Amino acid sequence: MIKGNFPVQKFEQLNTPFYYYDMELLQTTLDTIKKATENKPIHIHYAVKANANPRILKEIATRGFGADCVSGNEILAALENGFPPDKIVFAGVGKSDREIQIGLDNNIFCFNAESIPELEVLNTHAAAKGKTAKVALRINPNIDAHTHKYITTGLTENKFGISRQHLPQTLKVINASPNLRLIGIHLHIGSQITDPQTFEDLCVKINELREWFGAQGIPLPVINAGGGLGINYRHPNHIPIAGFESHFRLFEKNLPLQEGQTLHFEPGRSIVAPCGTLITRVLFVKEGLRKKFLIVDAGMTDLIRPALYQAFHHIENITSDREPEPYDVAGPICESSDVFAEQIHLNNSTRGDLIAIRSAGAYGEIMASRYNCRDLPLSHFSDRL
Ligand SMILES: *Cc1c(COP(=O)(O)O)cnc(C)c1O
Repeated sequence: MIKGNFPVQKFEQLNTPFYYYDMELLQTTLDTIKKATENKPIHIHYAVKANANPRILKEIATRGFGADCVSGNEILAALENGFPPDKIVFAGVGKSDREIQIGLDNNIFCFNAESIPELEVLNTHAAAKGKTAKVALRINPNIDAHTHKYITTGLTENKFGISRQHLPQTLKVINASPNLRLIGIHLHIGSQITDPQTFEDLCVKINELREWFGAQGIPLPVINAGGGLGINYRHPNHIPIAGFESHFRLFEKNLPLQEGQTLHFEPGRSIVAPCGTLITRVLFVKEGLRKKFLIVDAGMTDLIRPALYQAFHHIENITSDREPEPYDVAGPICESSDVFAEQIHLNNSTRGDLIAIRSAGAYGEIMASRYNCRDLPLSHFSDRL
């Protein structure tokens, strides 16, 4: 079986489980994005929630990208790791007073506002500080992202964003708020989107909205199309970098920018998922009645995606060259959902073998918990092993 290229000898000396980050792949990915957006009115804000490991954040900030944050602490993490405040955007349906103040105190680029009451509170805080908060309206475009329901965010009966019907009322509130300045619109419809048609549908909605705002005499310098670009979880060795070029080209083609307009994206998963691997050790090979279980020392507390959204991760035994056999790969947590994969083929495995759970750089380490009083997973980096 084709396997990733891992420094197995070094891994043997490390305690498991841990996240291993391929920093060369991250750099190549960032270069790809840079090249695809150079000399274009495109701004990239990395979605910090996908992975807020300080080394990862620093690497992305060093390349001059901005940050998309969904909490006050994410804003602080972004600032601490080198993102300039004027490249930070702040989204989220439930911004607390403290979080709004963090944004205002640091003069972030833009609040992506998700409701009328949020706008009112934001105006009050901005007025108290004698500031003007720049705002983009997060609009719910009622588009099905055709992805798992837990990662779909753009349908009408979904907690995210302002619905189209509420826009006239929203504009009234903004007009009555001297400390808010509307600079654009924001649409993020979901995650792990692999069908380009979904993004074409999004462009149609954005064009309609742009016309509607234009008809009200409101210019929109910022068009923020959110994140959501999917990666290939099935073939991490063949397709290690997401289709950024065609993604940006699709928007350029379907969303011709007007004078003074810039296009903003908030990729999270597509930047960091491929470079991260969860390395875990086989504790026991357990014979079931009809199948074999590999019980490994990583569990859903280290990587919750399979348990939470039935997500698929490609898995490899990186220390065995024996003939493949079918296994269920399960963790040690006391939950039946603590299973990484069922009946997948892995090289014949024994106690102590190292297992690589691939494409785990996004929504992996950051979602780790201490359930069962477990330790949080460690992280190691390819350039500092
Ligand atoms: C989660 C999120 C993103 C990033 O989504 P990915 O699928 O990881 O690219 C971008 N913008 C907002 C507002 C988000 O909530």
